[in-house]
Amino acid sequence: MPPEKHALLGASSAHRWLNCPGSARLTENMPDSVSPYAEAGRLAHEIAELKARQYFVEELPKRSFNAKLKKLKASEHYDKSMDGATDEYLEHLKARAMSYPTAPTVALEVQVDFSDIVPEGFGTADCIMIGSGMIDVVDYKNGSGVLVKAENNPQMMLYAWGALNYFRPIFGDSIHTVHMSIVQPNAGGVREWEMDIQELTLFAEGAIAPAAYHAWHGTQEFHSGEWCQFCKAKATCTERAKAMFDVEPMLGACPAGVDDDRDYFDPNHEGGRAQLLTDHEIGDILTRGKDVATWLKDLEAYALKATLDGRPIAGWKAVEGRGGREWNGGSDAAFEQLQSRGVAEAMLYERKPVSVAGLEKALGKKAFAEAADGLWSKTPGKPTLVPESDKRPPYNPAAAAFGGGD
Ligand code: SF4
Repeated sequence: MPPEKHALLGASSAHRWLNCPGSARLTENMPDSVSPYAEAGRLAHEIAELKARQYFVEELPKRSFNAKLKKLKASEHYDKSMDGATDEYLEHLKARAMSYPTAPTVALEVQVDFSDIVPEGFGTADCIMIGSGMIDVVDYKNGSGVLVKAENNPQMMLYAWGALNYFRPIFGDSIHTVHMSIVQPNAGGVREWEMDIQELTLFAEGAIAPAAYHAWHGTQEFHSGEWCQFCKAKATCTERAKAMFDVEPMLGACPAGVDDDRDYFDPNHEGGRAQLLTDHEIGDILTRGKDVATWLKDLEAYALKATLDGRPIAGWKAVEGRGGREWNGGSDAAFEQLQSRGVAEAMLYERKPVSVAGLEKALGKKAFAEAADGLWSKTPGKPTLVPESDKRPPYNPAAAAFGGGD
């Protein structure tokens, strides 16, 4: 996948600038940071593209295909799970292609232009299929940290809009349905959503175009929310900081319809507020606390970098963390010396059984499933508090006791 050149109002950042239009100009000259996750994502995209190209676009001789794949797998960012994940992407593309009454046109890594609704807006769609009145937009995501939904996803809708622009010279206005899929094998699999062209047009022209206009012209409208995690100003933004300290409105804010069975008012002081938090308030504070914890981590990362760059952060300094010890000249050379000094070889090596997860990572999902079939089972985990949005079912002590927890 070629790196997506950065449009000020890019599709991949649309969720952020639609919710916080001021963030676009605020961050436009801030440097990008390169994370190992981004590099791994880029590599997984290249592997996914190679497989899809081989199947749909141009079948290379097996040797050339294998040589290309081997080259990609030699990257330091490669890990075995990318094999299964990119296979899942290819399988989804095949299934989508099969759903068309006649074989669709398939295009990979398509640079789409949506500058008719977003100033200088463009992006790269991983896969587009079109034909029989339908257009498919498919996006591969390698990450496991943040689950990306397909429903009402502005990035996907912008790709779809750009794809329609791209194919209009050939297909005219014959397309009536847009199908969007996000393939995120490391975070729950495939999520899909469909809309008709009228809905897409309403969204593109009625919601995106006006927001993009404001963002482009440097509005000072800022709103913090979960999109801040993808913002280059996430550590230094005062709007986000304000939101983190805005605790008071939560207290006593029990929404209509929620049964607050605690003594909300202090029984000893008529009309007075109780000294104890209600269960509802505790829930709110825990939810907010997660955001605050994330924000503090962002601040710490920023402050450490600033300190190392020579910009003092009031009240803080960088120190050397706890280091480790290593064998001079490598373990082989050191162990030889140790044995010559009377240390038994058996003391120099640890033999530990590999974990189920460790072997699965080393072999890859498919090979693991074959090799370890019937040799492992799941032990129930301890009850853990998670946000309500977590996709796991609520803890069931009876099911856990009988090993039925999943
Ligand atoms: S950190 Fe959040 S509130 Fe601040 S500019 Fe970025 S997206 Fe907007």
